[in-house]
Amino acid sequence: MNVTPLATAVLLLPLALPAAVSADTYPRQPAIDVQHYAFRLTLGDASDEIRGEATVDVRFVRDDVTSFALDLAGRADGPTGMTVTSVTGGGRPLAYTHEADRLVVRLDAPSVPGERRQFTIAYHGVPGDGLVIGRNRHGDRTIFADNFPDRARGWLPTVDHPSDKATCEFAVTAPARYQVVASGRLIEETNLPGDLTLTHWRESAPMATYLMVIGVARFAVAHLGTLEGVPLQTWVYPQDREAGFFDFAGAGRSLEFFSERVGPYAYEKLANVQATTRYGGMENAGNIFYGERAITGSRRIEGTVVHEVAHQWFGDAVTESDWNHVWLSEGFATYFTHLFDEWASGRNRLVAGMIRDRETVARFREANPDLRVVDERVPIREVLSPYTYQKGGWILHMLRRAVGDEAFWPGVSAYYARYRNGNALSEDFARVMEEVSGRDLSRFFRQWLYEPGHPRLEVTWRWDGARQAIDLAVEQMQDGPSFVFDLDIGVAAPDGARRVETVSVTARRQAFTIPSAAEPASLELDPDVWLLFEGKIGRR
Ligand SMILES: [Zn+2]
Repeated sequence: MNVTPLATAVLLLPLALPAAVSADTYPRQPAIDVQHYAFRLTLGDASDEIRGEATVDVRFVRDDVTSFALDLAGRADGPTGMTVTSVTGGGRPLAYTHEADRLVVRLDAPSVPGERRQFTIAYHGVPGDGLVIGRNRHGDRTIFADNFPDRARGWLPTVDHPSDKATCEFAVTAPARYQVVASGRLIEETNLPGDLTLTHWRESAPMATYLMVIGVARFAVAHLGTLEGVPLQTWVYPQDREAGFFDFAGAGRSLEFFSERVGPYAYEKLANVQATTRYGGMENAGNIFYGERAITGSRRIEGTVVHEVAHQWFGDAVTESDWNHVWLSEGFATYFTHLFDEWASGRNRLVAGMIRDRETVARFREANPDLRVVDERVPIREVLSPYTYQKGGWILHMLRRAVGDEAFWPGVSAYYARYRNGNALSEDFARVMEEVSGRDLSRFFRQWLYEPGHPRLEVTWRWDGARQAIDLAVEQMQDGPSFVFDLDIGVAAPDGARRVETVSVTARRQAFTIPSAAEPASLELDPDVWLLFEGKIGRR
Protein backbone atom coordinates (compact mmCIF):
# COMPACT_ATOMS: atom_id res chain seq x y z
CA MET A 1 0.00 0.00 0.00
CA ASN A 2 0.91 3.58 -0.35
CA VAL A 3 0.35 5.65 2.75
CA THR A 4 -0.91 9.19 2.67
CA PRO A 5 1.49 12.13 3.35
CA LEU A 6 -0.08 12.62 6.77
CA ALA A 7 0.48 8.97 7.65
CA THR A 8 4.10 9.22 6.47
CA ALA A 9 4.70 12.01 8.96
CA VAL A 10 3.28 9.90 11.74
CA LEU A 11 5.48 6.98 10.74
CA LEU A 12 8.63 9.03 11.37
CA LEU A 13 7.91 9.03 15.09
CA PRO A 14 9.62 6.38 17.18
CA LEU A 15 7.88 3.06 17.51
CA ALA A 16 7.28 1.93 21.07
CA LEU A 17 8.89 -1.49 21.21
CA PRO A 18 7.70 -3.96 23.82
CA ALA A 19 9.77 -6.88 25.07
CA ALA A 20 11.21 -9.29 22.51
CA VAL A 21 8.25 -11.59 22.06
CA SER A 22 6.83 -12.23 18.59
CA ALA A 23 4.20 -9.56 18.08
CA ASP A 24 2.48 -11.44 15.26
CA THR A 25 0.50 -13.25 17.93
CA TYR A 26 -2.26 -14.44 15.64
CA PRO A 27 -3.55 -17.78 17.00
CA ARG A 28 -2.65 -19.94 14.01
CA GLN A 29 -4.50 -23.19 13.35
CA PRO A 30 -2.06 -25.61 11.76
CA ALA A 31 -4.75 -28.30 11.67
CA ILE A 32 -6.80 -26.50 9.02
CA ASP A 33 -6.21 -24.82 5.67
CA VAL A 34 -9.03 -22.78 4.13
CA GLN A 35 -9.34 -23.46 0.39
CA HIS A 36 -12.18 -21.19 -0.70
CA TYR A 37 -14.64 -18.60 0.57
CA ALA A 38 -18.00 -18.00 -1.14
CA PHE A 39 -19.57 -14.83 0.25
CA ARG A 40 -23.20 -13.96 -0.50
CA LEU A 41 -24.00 -10.47 0.71
CA THR A 42 -27.12 -8.33 0.62
CA LEU A 43 -26.73 -4.58 0.96
CA GLY A 44 -29.34 -1.87 0.97
CA ASP A 45 -29.89 1.85 1.29
CA ALA A 46 -32.43 1.83 4.11
CA SER A 47 -29.76 1.02 6.68
CA ASP A 48 -26.09 0.10 6.96
CA GLU A 49 -26.92 -3.44 7.99
CA ILE A 50 -25.53 -6.18 5.78
CA ARG A 51 -26.85 -9.72 5.57
CA GLY A 52 -24.25 -12.34 4.82
CA GLU A 53 -23.91 -16.01 4.11
CA ALA A 54 -20.40 -17.35 3.87
CA THR A 55 -19.51 -20.85 2.74
CA VAL A 56 -16.02 -21.72 3.91
CA ASP A 57 -14.30 -24.69 2.28
CA VAL A 58 -11.87 -26.10 4.85
CA ARG A 59 -9.21 -28.75 4.30
CA PHE A 60 -8.30 -30.60 7.47
CA VAL A 61 -4.58 -31.22 7.68
CA ARG A 62 -4.71 -33.34 10.84
CA ASP A 63 -7.03 -35.98 12.17
CA ASP A 64 -9.28 -35.74 15.17
CA VAL A 65 -9.96 -32.04 14.83
CA THR A 66 -13.16 -31.35 16.74
CA SER A 67 -13.45 -27.57 16.30
CA PHE A 68 -11.93 -24.66 14.44
CA ALA A 69 -12.25 -20.88 14.62
CA LEU A 70 -13.01 -18.04 12.24
CA ASP A 71 -12.45 -14.37 12.95
CA LEU A 72 -15.62 -12.29 12.90
CA ALA A 73 -16.25 -9.09 14.84
CA GLY A 74 -19.08 -9.78 17.22
CA ARG A 75 -21.71 -7.43 18.48
CA ALA A 76 -20.91 -6.20 21.97
CA ASP A 77 -22.78 -3.26 23.47
CA GLY A 78 -22.47 -0.86 20.56
CA PRO A 79 -24.50 -0.59 17.37
CA THR A 80 -21.91 -2.37 15.20
CA GLY A 81 -20.71 -5.93 14.85
CA MET A 82 -21.99 -9.17 13.42
CA THR A 83 -24.61 -11.52 14.86
CA VAL A 84 -24.35 -15.13 13.71
CA THR A 85 -27.73 -16.83 13.27
CA SER A 86 -26.65 -20.29 12.12
CA VAL A 87 -23.68 -22.47 11.23
CA THR A 88 -24.20 -25.57 9.13
CA GLY A 89 -21.90 -28.27 7.84
CA GLY A 90 -23.00 -30.89 5.33
CA GLY A 91 -26.51 -29.45 5.58
CA ARG A 92 -26.71 -30.08 9.32
CA PRO A 93 -26.75 -27.38 11.99
CA LEU A 94 -23.58 -27.25 14.05
CA ALA A 95 -22.92 -25.94 17.54
CA TYR A 96 -20.85 -22.79 17.78
CA THR A 97 -19.79 -20.02 20.11
CA HIS A 98 -19.12 -16.43 19.09
CA GLU A 99 -17.14 -14.55 21.70
CA ALA A 100 -14.32 -12.01 21.60
CA ASP A 101 -14.55 -11.79 17.79
CA ARG A 102 -13.89 -15.53 17.38
CA LEU A 103 -16.50 -17.84 15.92
CA VAL A 104 -15.67 -21.34 17.15
CA VAL A 105 -17.39 -24.07 15.15
CA ARG A 106 -17.79 -27.55 16.69
CA LEU A 107 -17.65 -30.45 14.22
CA ASP A 108 -20.26 -33.15 14.46
CA ALA A 109 -17.59 -35.76 13.64
CA PRO A 110 -13.81 -35.56 14.06
CA SER A 111 -11.77 -34.81 10.96
CA VAL A 112 -9.77 -37.17 8.79
CA PRO A 113 -6.49 -35.81 7.36
CA GLY A 114 -6.84 -34.41 3.84
CA GLU A 115 -10.62 -34.25 4.14
CA ARG A 116 -12.48 -31.17 2.90
CA ARG A 117 -15.72 -29.92 4.38
CA GLN A 118 -17.88 -26.90 3.65
CA PHE A 119 -19.37 -24.80 6.42
CA THR A 120 -21.97 -22.10 5.91
CA ILE A 121 -22.30 -19.20 8.32
CA ALA A 122 -25.37 -16.96 8.22
CA TYR A 123 -24.89 -13.58 9.87
CA HIS A 124 -25.97 -9.97 9.81
CA GLY A 125 -25.06 -6.65 11.34
CA VAL A 126 -23.67 -3.18 10.79
CA PRO A 127 -19.91 -3.36 10.06
CA GLY A 128 -17.85 -1.38 12.52
CA ASP A 129 -14.75 -1.72 10.34
CA GLY A 130 -13.49 -3.49 7.23
CA LEU A 131 -16.50 -2.61 5.09
CA VAL A 132 -16.77 1.16 4.99
CA ILE A 133 -20.28 2.44 4.30
CA GLY A 134 -20.62 6.16 3.86
CA ARG A 135 -20.54 9.08 1.48
CA ASN A 136 -17.86 9.68 -1.10
CA ARG A 137 -16.43 13.09 -1.95
CA HIS A 138 -19.40 13.86 -4.16
CA GLY A 139 -21.86 13.05 -1.40
CA ASP A 140 -22.92 9.75 -2.99
CA ARG A 141 -23.47 6.66 -0.84
CA THR A 142 -20.67 4.14 -1.37
CA ILE A 143 -19.58 0.85 0.17
CA PHE A 144 -15.92 -0.15 -0.04
CA ALA A 145 -13.97 -2.89 1.67
CA ASP A 146 -10.74 -1.78 3.36
CA ASN A 147 -9.37 -4.89 5.07
CA PHE A 148 -5.70 -4.18 5.69
CA PRO A 149 -4.17 -5.57 7.81
CA ASP A 150 -6.65 -7.57 9.95
CA ARG A 151 -9.97 -5.82 9.36
CA ALA A 152 -11.68 -8.36 7.07
CA ARG A 153 -13.12 -9.85 10.25
CA GLY A 154 -15.28 -6.72 10.55
CA TRP A 155 -17.60 -8.11 7.85
CA LEU A 156 -16.32 -11.51 6.67
CA PRO A 157 -15.94 -14.71 8.73
CA THR A 158 -12.41 -15.75 7.77
CA VAL A 159 -9.08 -17.01 9.00
CA ASP A 160 -7.94 -13.39 8.97
CA HIS A 161 -4.19 -13.85 8.65
CA PRO A 162 -2.02 -13.82 5.49
CA SER A 163 -0.56 -17.26 6.27
CA ASP A 164 -3.83 -18.92 5.15
CA LYS A 165 -4.59 -17.85 1.59
CA ALA A 166 -7.70 -19.00 -0.26
CA THR A 167 -9.67 -18.36 -3.40
CA CYS A 168 -12.85 -16.33 -3.05
CA GLU A 169 -16.06 -15.27 -4.70
CA PHE A 170 -18.56 -12.55 -3.92
CA ALA A 171 -22.23 -12.63 -4.92
CA VAL A 172 -23.60 -9.24 -3.97
CA THR A 173 -27.25 -8.22 -4.07
CA ALA A 174 -27.59 -4.43 -4.02
CA PRO A 175 -29.90 -1.70 -5.29
CA ALA A 176 -29.77 -1.64 -9.09
CA ARG A 177 -28.44 1.92 -9.28
CA TYR A 178 -25.06 0.70 -8.04
CA GLN A 179 -22.40 -1.26 -9.86
CA VAL A 180 -20.40 -3.81 -7.90
CA VAL A 181 -16.73 -4.61 -8.44
CA ALA A 182 -15.06 -7.44 -6.54
CA SER A 183 -12.12 -9.82 -6.60
CA GLY A 184 -11.79 -11.91 -9.75
CA ARG A 185 -13.76 -12.28 -12.96
CA LEU A 186 -17.35 -11.21 -13.47
CA ILE A 187 -19.43 -14.35 -13.85
CA GLU A 188 -23.01 -13.11 -13.42
CA GLU A 189 -25.05 -9.93 -13.48
CA THR A 190 -28.81 -10.37 -13.02
CA ASN A 191 -31.68 -7.95 -12.54
CA LEU A 192 -33.80 -9.05 -9.61
CA PRO A 193 -37.30 -8.03 -8.55
CA GLY A 194 -37.48 -4.97 -6.32
CA ASP A 195 -34.99 -2.92 -8.35
CA LEU A 196 -32.04 -5.02 -7.18
CA THR A 197 -29.07 -6.45 -9.03
CA LEU A 198 -27.10 -9.58 -8.25
CA THR A 199 -23.43 -9.23 -9.23
CA HIS A 200 -21.15 -12.25 -8.90
CA TRP A 201 -17.34 -12.22 -9.14
CA ARG A 202 -14.98 -15.13 -8.62
CA GLU A 203 -11.19 -15.33 -8.39
CA SER A 204 -9.39 -18.63 -9.01
CA ALA A 205 -6.00 -17.58 -7.57
CA PRO A 206 -5.69 -17.72 -3.79
CA MET A 207 -5.16 -14.52 -1.85
CA ALA A 208 -4.82 -13.28 1.72
CA THR A 209 -8.01 -12.05 3.37
CA TYR A 210 -6.61 -8.52 3.59
CA LEU A 211 -6.77 -8.41 -0.23
CA MET A 212 -10.39 -9.65 -0.71
CA VAL A 213 -12.67 -6.76 -1.54
CA ILE A 214 -15.89 -5.43 -2.93
CA GLY A 215 -16.73 -1.90 -4.08
CA VAL A 216 -20.34 -0.81 -4.41
CA ALA A 217 -21.03 2.62 -5.89
CA ARG A 218 -22.18 4.49 -8.94
CA PHE A 219 -19.25 3.93 -11.29
CA ALA A 220 -17.95 4.87 -14.70
CA VAL A 221 -16.15 1.82 -16.05
CA ALA A 222 -13.56 1.72 -18.84
CA HIS A 223 -12.59 -1.63 -20.35
CA LEU A 224 -9.09 -1.16 -21.68
CA GLY A 225 -8.73 -4.53 -23.38
CA THR A 226 -6.30 -7.24 -22.36
CA LEU A 227 -2.57 -6.97 -21.77
CA GLU A 228 -0.45 -10.06 -21.25
CA GLY A 229 -3.79 -11.90 -21.32
CA VAL A 230 -5.14 -9.87 -18.39
CA PRO A 231 -8.32 -7.76 -18.72
CA LEU A 232 -7.47 -4.19 -17.67
CA GLN A 233 -10.25 -1.97 -16.29
CA THR A 234 -10.75 1.46 -14.73
CA TRP A 235 -13.55 2.05 -12.21
CA VAL A 236 -14.09 5.66 -11.09
CA TYR A 237 -16.96 7.80 -9.87
CA PRO A 238 -19.08 9.11 -12.77
CA GLN A 239 -18.27 12.69 -11.70
CA ASP A 240 -14.55 11.88 -12.10
CA ARG A 241 -14.98 9.94 -15.34
CA GLU A 242 -12.74 12.05 -17.55
CA ALA A 243 -9.99 12.64 -14.96
CA GLY A 244 -10.02 9.04 -13.74
CA PHE A 245 -9.99 7.44 -17.17
CA PHE A 246 -7.02 9.65 -18.05
CA ASP A 247 -5.17 8.98 -14.78
CA PHE A 248 -5.34 5.19 -15.13
CA ALA A 249 -5.00 4.88 -18.92
CA GLY A 250 -1.26 4.14 -18.66
CA ALA A 251 -1.50 1.46 -15.97
CA GLY A 252 -0.80 -1.29 -18.50
CA ARG A 253 2.85 -0.31 -18.86
CA SER A 254 3.72 -1.49 -15.37
CA LEU A 255 1.63 -4.65 -15.86
CA GLU A 256 3.74 -5.43 -18.93
CA PHE A 257 7.02 -4.54 -17.22
CA PHE A 258 6.47 -6.79 -14.20
CA SER A 259 5.01 -9.61 -16.31
CA GLU A 260 8.07 -9.64 -18.54
CA ARG A 261 10.71 -9.08 -15.86
CA VAL A 262 9.34 -11.10 -12.93
CA GLY A 263 6.78 -13.64 -14.16
CA PRO A 264 3.15 -14.09 -15.14
CA TYR A 265 0.47 -11.98 -13.46
CA ALA A 266 -1.55 -14.07 -10.99
CA TYR A 267 -5.16 -12.79 -11.11
CA GLU A 268 -8.10 -12.85 -13.50
CA LYS A 269 -8.23 -9.10 -14.06
CA LEU A 270 -6.54 -5.87 -13.07
CA ALA A 271 -8.96 -3.13 -12.09
CA ASN A 272 -7.86 0.29 -10.88
CA VAL A 273 -10.66 1.54 -8.65
CA GLN A 274 -11.37 4.95 -7.13
CA ALA A 275 -12.49 4.27 -3.57
CA THR A 276 -12.82 5.64 -0.07
CA THR A 277 -9.85 3.63 1.24
CA ARG A 278 -7.97 5.29 4.09
CA TYR A 279 -4.73 4.54 2.23
CA GLY A 280 -3.29 6.44 -0.73
CA GLY A 281 -3.46 3.15 -2.59
CA MET A 282 -4.32 -0.37 -1.46
CA GLU A 283 -3.10 -3.33 -3.50
CA ASN A 284 -6.20 -5.58 -3.20
CA ALA A 285 -5.43 -8.52 -5.48
CA GLY A 286 -6.53 -7.76 -9.03
CA ASN A 287 -8.59 -4.91 -7.70
CA ILE A 288 -6.48 -1.97 -6.61
CA PHE A 289 -8.24 0.71 -4.58
CA TYR A 290 -7.01 4.32 -4.64
CA GLY A 291 -7.90 7.10 -2.23
CA GLU A 292 -10.61 9.05 -4.04
CA ARG A 293 -8.81 12.40 -3.81
CA ALA A 294 -5.76 11.06 -5.63
CA ILE A 295 -7.73 11.12 -8.89
CA THR A 296 -6.99 14.57 -10.32
CA GLY A 297 -6.71 14.19 -14.08
CA SER A 298 -3.03 15.16 -13.92
CA ARG A 299 -1.55 11.65 -13.60
CA ARG A 300 0.02 12.60 -10.29
CA ILE A 301 -1.09 9.13 -9.23
CA GLU A 302 1.26 7.31 -11.60
CA GLY A 303 3.90 6.47 -8.99
CA THR A 304 1.22 5.05 -6.71
CA VAL A 305 -0.17 2.98 -9.59
CA VAL A 306 3.24 1.41 -10.26
CA HIS A 307 3.71 0.69 -6.54
CA GLU A 308 0.31 -1.04 -6.26
CA VAL A 309 0.79 -2.96 -9.50
CA ALA A 310 4.18 -4.16 -8.22
CA HIS A 311 2.37 -5.46 -5.14
CA GLN A 312 0.33 -7.82 -7.34
CA TRP A 313 3.58 -9.80 -7.64
CA PHE A 314 5.05 -9.01 -4.22
CA GLY A 315 2.68 -9.11 -1.27
CA ASP A 316 -0.29 -10.43 -3.24
CA ALA A 317 0.92 -13.42 -5.30
CA VAL A 318 3.89 -14.03 -2.98
CA THR A 319 2.62 -13.17 0.49
CA GLU A 320 4.55 -12.76 3.72
CA SER A 321 3.40 -15.52 6.07
CA ASP A 322 4.27 -13.44 9.12
CA TRP A 323 3.52 -9.73 9.49
CA ASN A 324 7.05 -9.04 10.72
CA HIS A 325 8.31 -9.98 7.22
CA VAL A 326 6.14 -7.37 5.51
CA TRP A 327 9.22 -5.85 3.83
CA LEU A 328 8.76 -8.74 1.34
CA SER A 329 5.67 -6.80 0.31
CA GLU A 330 6.41 -3.11 0.93
CA GLY A 331 10.18 -3.10 0.39
CA PHE A 332 9.72 -4.94 -2.90
CA ALA A 333 6.92 -2.62 -4.06
CA THR A 334 9.12 0.36 -3.18
CA TYR A 335 12.19 -0.88 -5.03
CA PHE A 336 10.33 -2.28 -8.01
CA THR A 337 8.69 1.12 -8.47
CA HIS A 338 12.22 2.56 -8.73
CA LEU A 339 13.18 -0.24 -11.15
CA PHE A 340 10.17 0.60 -13.30
CA ASP A 341 11.25 4.26 -13.23
CA GLU A 342 14.77 3.26 -14.24
CA TRP A 343 13.41 1.26 -17.15
CA ALA A 344 10.90 3.93 -18.22
CA SER A 345 12.88 7.12 -17.56
CA GLY A 346 16.53 6.22 -17.08
CA ARG A 347 18.93 5.60 -14.23
CA ASN A 348 18.78 9.18 -12.90
CA ARG A 349 15.20 8.61 -11.78
CA LEU A 350 16.23 5.51 -9.85
CA VAL A 351 19.17 7.33 -8.25
CA ALA A 352 17.01 10.29 -7.23
CA GLY A 353 14.55 7.90 -5.60
CA MET A 354 17.26 5.97 -3.78
CA ILE A 355 18.80 9.18 -2.39
CA ARG A 356 15.40 10.33 -1.17
CA ASP A 357 14.74 6.96 0.44
CA ARG A 358 18.20 6.91 2.06
CA GLU A 359 17.48 10.25 3.72
CA THR A 360 14.15 8.94 4.99
CA VAL A 361 15.82 5.84 6.44
CA ALA A 362 18.50 7.95 8.14
CA ARG A 363 15.91 10.19 9.78
CA PHE A 364 13.89 7.20 10.92
CA ARG A 365 16.98 5.50 12.35
CA GLU A 366 17.63 8.57 14.54
CA ALA A 367 14.29 8.04 16.21
CA ASN A 368 14.51 4.22 16.25
CA PRO A 369 18.16 3.30 16.84
CA ASP A 370 17.36 -0.24 17.94
CA LEU A 371 14.80 -1.20 15.28
CA ARG A 372 15.36 -3.93 12.68
CA VAL A 373 13.64 -4.41 9.30
CA VAL A 374 12.42 -7.84 10.45
CA ASP A 375 11.65 -7.09 14.06
CA GLU A 376 9.45 -9.49 15.93
CA ARG A 377 8.68 -6.88 18.58
CA VAL A 378 6.62 -4.70 16.22
CA PRO A 379 2.86 -5.27 16.52
CA ILE A 380 0.76 -5.93 13.41
CA ARG A 381 -0.72 -2.47 13.13
CA GLU A 382 2.71 -0.77 13.32
CA VAL A 383 4.64 -2.86 10.81
CA LEU A 384 4.46 -0.19 8.11
CA SER A 385 7.46 2.09 8.54
CA PRO A 386 10.35 3.56 6.54
CA TYR A 387 12.20 0.37 7.46
CA THR A 388 9.74 -1.99 5.79
CA TYR A 389 9.35 0.39 2.82
CA GLN A 390 12.50 2.41 2.10
CA LYS A 391 15.10 0.34 3.93
CA GLY A 392 13.57 -2.83 2.49
CA GLY A 393 13.92 -1.27 -0.95
CA TRP A 394 17.51 -0.31 -0.21
CA ILE A 395 18.34 -3.88 0.78
CA LEU A 396 17.17 -5.06 -2.65
CA HIS A 397 19.22 -2.32 -4.30
CA MET A 398 22.35 -3.40 -2.43
CA LEU A 399 21.60 -7.04 -3.17
CA ARG A 400 21.38 -6.19 -6.86
CA ARG A 401 24.81 -4.58 -6.61
CA ALA A 402 26.23 -7.52 -4.66
CA VAL A 403 25.11 -10.27 -7.05
CA GLY A 404 24.87 -8.26 -10.27
CA ASP A 405 21.92 -7.84 -12.63
CA GLU A 406 22.77 -11.22 -14.16
CA ALA A 407 21.80 -12.97 -10.90
CA PHE A 408 19.41 -10.39 -9.42
CA TRP A 409 16.69 -10.64 -12.07
CA PRO A 410 16.80 -14.44 -12.48
CA GLY A 411 16.85 -14.74 -8.68
CA VAL A 412 13.77 -12.56 -8.29
CA SER A 413 11.99 -14.52 -11.04
CA ALA A 414 12.92 -17.84 -9.42
CA TYR A 415 11.67 -16.61 -6.05
CA TYR A 416 8.40 -15.51 -7.67
CA ALA A 417 7.97 -18.78 -9.54
CA ARG A 418 8.59 -20.85 -6.41
CA TYR A 419 6.29 -18.94 -4.04
CA ARG A 420 3.65 -17.56 -6.42
CA ASN A 421 0.16 -18.06 -4.96
CA GLY A 422 1.78 -19.09 -1.70
CA ASN A 423 3.62 -17.62 1.26
CA ALA A 424 7.24 -16.81 1.99
CA LEU A 425 9.53 -15.60 4.74
CA SER A 426 12.73 -13.59 4.35
CA GLU A 427 14.76 -16.81 4.65
CA ASP A 428 12.98 -18.21 1.59
CA PHE A 429 13.97 -15.23 -0.49
CA ALA A 430 17.54 -15.35 0.81
CA ARG A 431 17.81 -19.06 -0.02
CA VAL A 432 16.68 -18.56 -3.62
CA MET A 433 19.09 -15.66 -4.11
CA GLU A 434 21.95 -17.78 -2.75
CA GLU A 435 21.04 -20.67 -5.05
CA VAL A 436 20.81 -18.49 -8.15
CA SER A 437 23.88 -16.36 -7.44
CA GLY A 438 26.02 -19.15 -6.01
CA ARG A 439 27.01 -16.75 -3.23
CA ASP A 440 26.91 -17.04 0.54
CA LEU A 441 24.56 -14.16 1.42
CA SER A 442 24.00 -15.08 5.07
CA ARG A 443 26.03 -12.13 6.38
CA PHE A 444 24.34 -9.77 3.93
CA PHE A 445 20.80 -10.65 4.97
CA ARG A 446 21.66 -10.94 8.65
CA GLN A 447 23.18 -7.50 9.00
CA TRP A 448 20.63 -5.64 6.90
CA LEU A 449 17.45 -7.42 7.99
CA TYR A 450 18.11 -8.56 11.54
CA GLU A 451 20.56 -6.00 12.94
CA PRO A 452 19.76 -2.37 13.66
CA GLY A 453 21.04 0.71 11.87
CA HIS A 454 23.45 1.13 8.99
CA PRO A 455 27.06 2.27 8.55
CA ARG A 456 27.89 5.83 9.63
CA LEU A 457 31.29 6.46 8.16
CA GLU A 458 34.14 8.81 8.83
CA VAL A 459 36.65 8.48 6.03
CA THR A 460 39.92 10.44 5.76
CA TRP A 461 42.58 10.35 3.07
CA ARG A 462 45.91 11.74 2.04
CA TRP A 463 47.98 11.35 -1.08
CA ASP A 464 51.51 10.05 -0.69
CA GLY A 465 53.55 11.36 -3.63
CA ALA A 466 56.56 9.21 -2.85
CA ARG A 467 54.47 6.01 -3.01
CA GLN A 468 52.11 7.39 -5.64
CA ALA A 469 49.17 6.18 -3.57
CA ILE A 470 46.11 7.35 -1.67
CA ASP A 471 46.03 6.30 2.00
CA LEU A 472 42.43 5.84 3.04
CA ALA A 473 41.20 5.32 6.61
CA VAL A 474 37.62 4.12 7.05
CA GLU A 475 35.91 4.08 10.43
CA GLN A 476 32.37 2.91 11.24
CA MET A 477 31.00 5.30 13.85
CA GLN A 478 27.51 3.87 14.44
CA ASP A 479 26.49 2.37 17.76
CA GLY A 480 25.76 -1.31 17.52
CA PRO A 481 27.31 -3.90 15.24
CA SER A 482 29.76 -3.09 12.47
CA PHE A 483 28.88 -3.91 8.88
CA VAL A 484 30.63 -5.72 6.05
CA PHE A 485 30.16 -4.02 2.66
CA ASP A 486 31.79 -2.83 -0.53
CA LEU A 487 32.45 0.91 -0.55
CA ASP A 488 32.91 2.79 -3.80
CA ILE A 489 35.32 5.73 -3.76
CA GLY A 490 35.04 8.26 -6.57
CA VAL A 491 38.49 9.63 -7.40
CA ALA A 492 38.51 12.92 -9.32
CA ALA A 493 41.77 13.74 -11.08
CA PRO A 494 42.98 17.36 -11.37
CA ASP A 495 41.96 17.34 -15.05
CA GLY A 496 38.39 16.41 -14.05
CA ALA A 497 38.60 12.74 -15.11
CA ARG A 498 36.81 10.50 -12.64
CA ARG A 499 37.25 6.88 -11.76
CA VAL A 500 35.68 4.61 -9.17
CA GLU A 501 37.70 2.38 -6.83
CA THR A 502 36.00 -0.18 -4.60
CA VAL A 503 37.25 -1.25 -1.17
CA SER A 504 35.84 -4.11 0.89
CA VAL A 505 35.10 -2.92 4.40
CA THR A 506 35.15 -5.78 6.90
CA ALA A 507 36.15 -4.12 10.18
CA ARG A 508 35.21 -1.18 12.35
CA ARG A 509 38.51 0.59 11.56
CA GLN A 510 40.38 -0.19 8.39
CA ALA A 511 43.13 1.30 6.21
CA PHE A 512 43.32 0.96 2.43
CA THR A 513 45.84 1.96 -0.20
CA ILE A 514 44.66 3.02 -3.65
CA PRO A 515 47.34 3.49 -6.33
CA SER A 516 47.25 6.99 -7.81
CA ALA A 517 50.11 8.49 -9.82
CA ALA A 518 48.66 12.00 -9.54
CA GLU A 519 47.29 13.78 -6.51
CA PRO A 520 43.47 13.63 -6.71
CA ALA A 521 41.46 16.84 -6.76
CA SER A 522 38.83 15.25 -4.53
CA LEU A 523 37.40 11.96 -3.29
CA GLU A 524 33.72 11.09 -3.02
CA LEU A 525 31.95 8.32 -1.10
CA ASP A 526 29.58 6.04 -3.01
CA PRO A 527 29.40 8.22 -6.13
CA ASP A 528 27.02 5.86 -7.95
CA VAL A 529 24.60 5.48 -5.00
CA TRP A 530 24.85 1.78 -4.17
CA LEU A 531 25.22 1.85 -0.37
CA LEU A 532 22.85 2.62 2.48
CA PHE A 533 25.04 4.71 4.76
CA GLU A 534 25.65 8.12 6.25
CA GLY A 535 29.05 9.71 6.36
CA LYS A 536 31.65 12.08 5.08
CA ILE A 537 35.11 12.01 3.59
CA GLY A 538 37.87 14.59 4.11
CA ARG A 539 41.58 15.13 3.70
CA ARG A 540 43.82 14.65 6.66
ZN1 LIG B 1 2.66 -0.76 -0.60
